[in-house]
Amino acid sequence: MCLFCKIANKEIPSKVVLEDEHVLAFHDVNPQAPTHVLVIPKRHIAGIGQATPEDEAILGRLLLAARRVAELAGIAESGFRTVINSGANAGQTVFHLHVHVLGGRAMAWPPG
Ligand code: AMP
Ligand code: ZN
Repeated sequence: MCLFCKIANKEIPSKVVLEDEHVLAFHDVNPQAPTHVLVIPKRHIAGIGQATPEDEAILGRLLLAARRVAELAGIAESGFRTVINSGANAGQTVFHLHVHVLGGRAMAWPPG
C-alpha cells in the first residue's frame, strides 16, 4: 500500500485538517509556506496523469475541499495556490494524487 493510502487508512499518523467519506486533507510534513496542506482522495489514484473520466466526481471534490481548507486556514481572502505535480519534471515524489494548498505568504510566478 502506498504512503498516502496508509495515511488515508490512519496506519500512518497525520495532522488532519478536514475529512469526509471521499477526501482527506492533512498538513504537509515539510511545509513550504505558513499554510501547506495536502488534499488526497481516499481511493488510490496515482496522479492527475492517471485520472480517467470515472474520476470526474472525485476531482471536483478535491478542488472544493482545497477551497474549504483555504477558508479554514484563513487564507481564502489573502490568496492561496493549489498545485498538482505530475511526473518527474514536475517533481512528483508521492504517486498518490494530492493537491497542495499553499498560502500565508506571497508566491512568485512562474514557479521554479
Ligand atoms: P509531491 O512532490 O508533489 O509528490 O509532494 C509530496 C509531498 O508529500 C511533499 O511536499 C512532502 O513533504 C509530503 N509528504 C511526504 N511524506 C509525508 C507524510 N508522511 N506526511 C505529510 N506529508 C508528507
Ligand atoms: Zn495510494
